[in-house]
Amino acid sequence: MSNLGANPGSNLGSNLGIDAERLWDSLMETARIGGTPDGGIARLTLSDDDRRVRDWLAGQCAALGMTMVVDEVGNMFATRPGTKPDLPAIAMGSHLDTQPTGGRFDGVLGVLAGLEVLRTLDGAGYRTEAPLMLVNWTNEEGSRFAPAMLGSGIWAGVYSRDYGETRADISGDTFGASLDRIGYRGPARAGAVRFGAMFELHIEQGPILEAEGARIGVVQGIQGMRWFDLTLTGMAAHTGSTPMRMRRNALLGMAQVIEGVERIALAHEDAVGTIGFLDISPNSHNVIPGEVRATVDLRHPSDAVLDRMQAELEALVREAAAAVGLGHRLEPISCTAPVAFDAECIASVRAGARAAGHATRDIVSGAGHDAAHTAGVVPTTMIFVPSAGGLSHNPAESTLPEECAAGAQVLLEAVLDYDRRMADARNMPARNADTHKTGAEKTGAEKTEAA
Ligand SMILES: [Zn+2]
Repeated sequence: MSNLGANPGSNLGSNLGIDAERLWDSLMETARIGGTPDGGIARLTLSDDDRRVRDWLAGQCAALGMTMVVDEVGNMFATRPGTKPDLPAIAMGSHLDTQPTGGRFDGVLGVLAGLEVLRTLDGAGYRTEAPLMLVNWTNEEGSRFAPAMLGSGIWAGVYSRDYGETRADISGDTFGASLDRIGYRGPARAGAVRFGAMFELHIEQGPILEAEGARIGVVQGIQGMRWFDLTLTGMAAHTGSTPMRMRRNALLGMAQVIEGVERIALAHEDAVGTIGFLDISPNSHNVIPGEVRATVDLRHPSDAVLDRMQAELEALVREAAAAVGLGHRLEPISCTAPVAFDAECIASVRAGARAAGHATRDIVSGAGHDAAHTAGVVPTTMIFVPSAGGLSHNPAESTLPEECAAGAQVLLEAVLDYDRRMADARNMPARNADTHKTGAEKTGAEKTEAA
């Protein structure tokens, strides 16, 4: 505690250091819950292993004297009081569920780094003004119960509780029954537990940070996403007896669309476009493809650019179908608007990375995250750390111990910076009126008064 005042009037950070080894040990300890022989984790949401890791987290939070509230969709919220209990909490967290072939860092790092921040503050006896909160969202992955990010989506009011309740897995078990089975249907109404800001640390799940040698990604937002179902219809016919000029080959048309989607994405900076699913009918080696179905996935951080890309896709499909003599149907099946993260939260991450001495790169998330839902309700941002080879949703997913530690340290500094930033903002208009504060009140909050 003695070092807390060592930096008076400085904005160089807290002088608190997270315990990298303790963080890594917790990551490896929980990785055994649902651990797979290839070094990954298969911890499907609301499974017995999900219950075990939730019990573990609840135990760790209890050991820190924190109060845990579970809501009716299993979202877990543990609170550490601040010196001003009436302030909304600053939340950290992510998710503990994984894909069936999940790695050891996706989601888990965000929760366990938040826990490490709380352990560090606890060890130092450091009190923030605002309460701090650790969150574990239910069913981020969506691999057992679609859609993904369900717990945070219900919390944010994007989905109704009843909608979530009735989601079923392939064996017909529902989300609601599974919550009851593992004993994690809590008493709090979904959405009733509120907080004032959210910081989600996550692995990048892409190759950019590693390629550019930046340890910390300052996440600006999450790109928007539009999915389409595309069907091209020609005529199935014998491959031997149908002359080339008399064919209506649906796969040939689709090949032109696949190339065209690539061109559309390359023509817009920061855009990506993919056809990752094809269903060829009748899919026989001696029949000209009569019908081909595909999904088209377009993503970009700007809705205006997505509008242009969609118009270009529509024109592309019309032209490719006309060139080969095909019928076509292009149907939008899902549309997620881009998310822009909060400027103050981003500024705190930047300040946190500076304080921790790490190289940063501004980045837009290519994948969806719980933070996309919280961003619609409260100021939110994310912090990324590198993923080796950009690999994720894979047992070989790898982030180095020092990279996990860097992320946790920046999370700590960012949260403390945000706490100070909000305190300064509160004090600003009434700075003169504030002089009536007693000395005890002024020193009561063990925090460096940032200049
Ligand atoms: Zn994740």
